[in-house]
Amino acid sequence: MKLSIEQGDITTYAVDAIVNAANCSLLGGGGVDGAIHRAAGKQLLAECRTLHGCETGKAKITKGYQLPAKYVVHTPGPIWRGGNHNEAQLLANSYRNSLAVAWEHGCRTVAFPSISTGVYHFPLEQAADIAVQTIAQFLQTHPDMERVTMVCFDHATYQAYERAVKRL
Ligand code: ADP
Repeated sequence: MKLSIEQGDITTYAVDAIVNAANCSLLGGGGVDGAIHRAAGKQLLAECRTLHGCETGKAKITKGYQLPAKYVVHTPGPIWRGGNHNEAQLLANSYRNSLAVAWEHGCRTVAFPSISTGVYHFPLEQAADIAVQTIAQFLQTHPDMERVTMVCFDHATYQAYERAVKRL
């Protein structure tokens, strides 16, 4: 299985690309977004300013600057608004489009945070199912992708993704 579930800090991962759970401005925020910008340095924000934002579920790529990762893929996940506003499809789009843009840039090792399950309040168990299913589908159609890692910041998130992998 090329999908790994780990607990840790995504800013320390020396992979080809880490994914940032960004907001649509791409100009930084709290949570994992703030941590990535702090670790990457001011040049990341400067490059993000040239991108003119990003729609929910789409993805844009920058260099990683002072991060150990070569690239950062920025994707705004959906804000949870009760579940009848296409949230599930939009979250799947974030994972799929992030993998696609990383792949196009030659990335073969990619690490994700748990998109939308922080301040965007997407229910964790459902988000974990969508994440692992979408990543597994991508791995099936892209056999040269070497490894995709879900980097869970806290233990409850780690356990939810472990359960989701067992349900695959
Ligand atoms: P969103 O706005 O998409 O909900 P958040 O950053 O609020 O994004 O939360 C997404 C997930 O990222 C949460 O599980 C949060 O605990 C986690 N997170 C925060 N900092 C880090 C980090 N340094 N590495 C990995 N995950 C992190």
